[in-house]
Amino acid sequence: YTKEYKKKTPASAKLFAKSAKMHINGVSHNIRFYEPYPFVVKKSLGKNLIDVDSNKYTDYWMGHWALILGHGPKGVKKNLQKQIEKSWMYGTVNEQTILLSELISKAVSVAEKIRYVTSGTEATMYAVRLARSVTGKKIIAKIDGGWHGYTSDLLKSVNWPFSESESSGVVNEEQIISIPYNDLVKSLSILKKYCKELAGVIIEPVLGGGGCIPADVDYLKGVQEFCKKNNSLFILDEIVTGFRFRFGCLYPTMKLDPDIVTLGKIVGGGMAIGVMCGKKEIMEYADTTGKKKSERSYVGGGTFSANPASMVAGFSTLSELKSKKSIYSKINSIGKYARKEITKTFDGKVAVTGKGSLFMTHFLKDGITEITNSSQAAKCDGELLAKYHFKMIAHDGIFFLPGKLGAISDAHSKSDIKKMVKASEDFIY
Ligand code: PMP
Repeated sequence: YTKEYKKKTPASAKLFAKSAKMHINGVSHNIRFYEPYPFVVKKSLGKNLIDVDSNKYTDYWMGHWALILGHGPKGVKKNLQKQIEKSWMYGTVNEQTILLSELISKAVSVAEKIRYVTSGTEATMYAVRLARSVTGKKIIAKIDGGWHGYTSDLLKSVNWPFSESESSGVVNEEQIISIPYNDLVKSLSILKKYCKELAGVIIEPVLGGGGCIPADVDYLKGVQEFCKKNNSLFILDEIVTGFRFRFGCLYPTMKLDPDIVTLGKIVGGGMAIGVMCGKKEIMEYADTTGKKKSERSYVGGGTFSANPASMVAGFSTLSELKSKKSIYSKINSIGKYARKEITKTFDGKVAVTGKGSLFMTHFLKDGITEITNSSQAAKCDGELLAKYHFKMIAHDGIFFLPGKLGAISDAHSKSDIKKMVKASEDFIY
């Protein structure tokens, strides 16, 4: 399909050659590159991306899964336009932030205090820094294959099932340990070894980058109980899952009680955002008033944190999700349909993981029959998955970032899934 793709995308080829000269890998996020070159987007609307050659793609990448209402939803656009008239950067306190926080704190019980930043990476960085400060302990446990952004505070150069290394040049790596997802017995035995020094555990309730794999409720409960007993913080990274399946986070549906929750993506309505929120007594540890500098946890912010454009886009998105709760039942049921139909199409050769409106296809091999953790996901045929996605980009006008999970938005319908399933049926491998 490379020939077909090149024929369709000459303007992208030309522009990307320019981009490659100026940017690392030609992109500004490593995963956005794929062979022979990614198409260059001119505009997007609803469920579609349109490239500089005017090819139209049904998009399942949906802005790193941030765009739950689709690209450029009318209501959000209108409110953003109004805000742009007033200005898009104040660099100081604004009412837009307060409005968004009112919505978040009503929907997320643990959000007794909130701090905004401009990426999920910063939110998780601050969350683990705060955990270390509050507990006076140093070690953070993450999940094998857990992804919390590019912060050095949560990257490991070993123990990553998808490749040998997440990064070189990671500082204080000995202070990050990892535990296997959905294996409580093994996880607890590792955590016990470190319990005196364990500041906290950070977990995604559905592994995103690690393979779109939901956690077992009992697994999360067991890890949470261990944290409570050992004066370690239980941190849930809901940057992908927050407001994705319901109006609020996923943790209340599992009767969990996290100390800190991180949010991002959807709550920024497609604009840059990261959120760290948590229980008052923990979050207030970062208050600077009345503390010696040496005692503070430095939770900063950043030039663009709580900028009014992000706040308005987030507020408008959450307002729409709140007033039209049927969006969730719609996209969750389309997701269920997608998982069922893709599984059927590949007749025992794939496992389709996910939850609600998220789904990921894994081409099974090496005796793997189910996917409950990222080690199993890593043993699947990632190259074949990337080929399958590329075929759909080149031949069918359907966009998945090759090898990655898909997200359904309110702009999608069941007939889009039918088209995608049809495109899957004639994938020869
Ligand atoms: N946490 C999770 C669970 C994520 O999936 C991501 C990004 N995909 C991040 C954190 C980092 O967020 P950002 O890319 O906004 O820095």
